[in-house]
Amino acid sequence: MRRTRNAKIVATLGPASSDPAVVRQLFLEGVDLFRLNFSHGSADDHRARVRILRDLEAEVGRPIGILADLQGPKLRVGAFRDGPVTLSAGQSFRLDLDSAPGDTGRAGLPHPEIFAVLAPGSELLLDDGRLRLVVERCGKDFAETRVLVGGALSANKGVNVPGVVLPLTALTRKDRQDLDLALEMGADWIALSFVQRPEDIAEARAIIGNRAAIMSKLEKPAAVDRLEEIVAASDAVMVARGDLGVELPAERVPALQKRIVRSCRRLGKPVVIATQMLESMVERPVPTRAEASDVATAIYDGADAVMLSAESASGKFPVAAVGMMNRIIEQVEADPLYRQLIDASYESPPAGQLDTGAAVCGAMRRVVSLLHAAAIVCYTRSGHTSLVAARERPESPVLSVTPILATARRMAVVWGVHSVHAADVSDVTEMTAVACEVAVREKFAQRGQTIVAVAGMPFGVPGTTNLLRVATV
Ligand code: PGA
Ligand code: MN
Repeated sequence: MRRTRNAKIVATLGPASSDPAVVRQLFLEGVDLFRLNFSHGSADDHRARVRILRDLEAEVGRPIGILADLQGPKLRVGAFRDGPVTLSAGQSFRLDLDSAPGDTGRAGLPHPEIFAVLAPGSELLLDDGRLRLVVERCGKDFAETRVLVGGALSANKGVNVPGVVLPLTALTRKDRQDLDLALEMGADWIALSFVQRPEDIAEARAIIGNRAAIMSKLEKPAAVDRLEEIVAASDAVMVARGDLGVELPAERVPALQKRIVRSCRRLGKPVVIATQMLESMVERPVPTRAEASDVATAIYDGADAVMLSAESASGKFPVAAVGMMNRIIEQVEADPLYRQLIDASYESPPAGQLDTGAAVCGAMRRVVSLLHAAAIVCYTRSGHTSLVAARERPESPVLSVTPILATARRMAVVWGVHSVHAADVSDVTEMTAVACEVAVREKFAQRGQTIVAVAGMPFGVPGTTNLLRVATV
């Protein structure tokens, strides 16, 4: 079976989508990469979902990608003695390291790292930015603040400190445990939350090695300040608009989204647009026009994938949300303006990436366009060749053929790539024969049509992409 679109769909599994029949429906409607959210659910919940996905993969005979999204250093206030409190604008409010339950005058904030970097004038956002405090006086274990925007505050609500690089590790103790579990379960992608610096990715990579690929979630202004370095250090990026829109005013998110997509496309890293894409479908079977337009915009910009969070995890219409996303993508990609915009936003690879493989894929793009090739077949072990090919945003689908199952699954999130797990080839004649056979079998080409194969010789040695072969099926 094949998808009839280039951009991919990521969907989060949760209570609304943990039944094998629902997961199967989600896949059939269009989900390419399934996200497990480690901010919610138990180890057993995650294990059960992975089992369902791997069973489904075997049943449908298509590689399915699994993304394990770690919670990261999300800061939270402590508990309150008599339940939720209401803070009013203008009042003072104290935060400290005291573990005693809070009241209307103070609350515990069990994070010494925050106090270490606060200064008079620093702002604190509570509960997804609903409440806003400004620091007037502070020390190593307390902060006296003034309430700028008040409201109700209950236990464990999130705290954001915008505009400050916090001396926090990107992996908390919980994250390390979750990471062990995710790797043991065979997750293909690990998402790192609240990445602040490239070193955060290096720290995770030291543990992960090449057991999984790393997707950095951009949700801190500090990360945006070092965008290029973070994109370069990551295997993929998520525009995590939920927290990004708390740390920064919402009106700044659209321009940043475009900047991040552009940077990722230039550096050839897959980019996922996430959060609130079809938010109203949590409650209703149809999206707002604005939401449909938001998904479409991400596709016109050339993003690799769009993501569903609550819509598929806990909403009332998970399957309808995927179907809607699928149809929006298909409509956009059928619009002649889509190809014009994709081409207009194309940039050549940066100097540091201009090697033989990039040049061969650049030529491939031109050849495919001139010959109206039915498909591009990439032979790859690491997935690198398929990524370089997808970076070109060619006019024909990319069949990524690999003998490595983990690579086949990772490619699930990449624009335009149809991943195929198949035996290795040893010479050009065999490669051409297998390329034609795969293209026909996967319903991408018919007899007499042209396909273009990209590979590296000698075969099986990564990083040697140096071959472009045009063949008639
Ligand atoms: P989350 O990340 O859903 O894990 O918070 C996405 C976002 O912040 O947008
Ligand atoms: Mn987030």
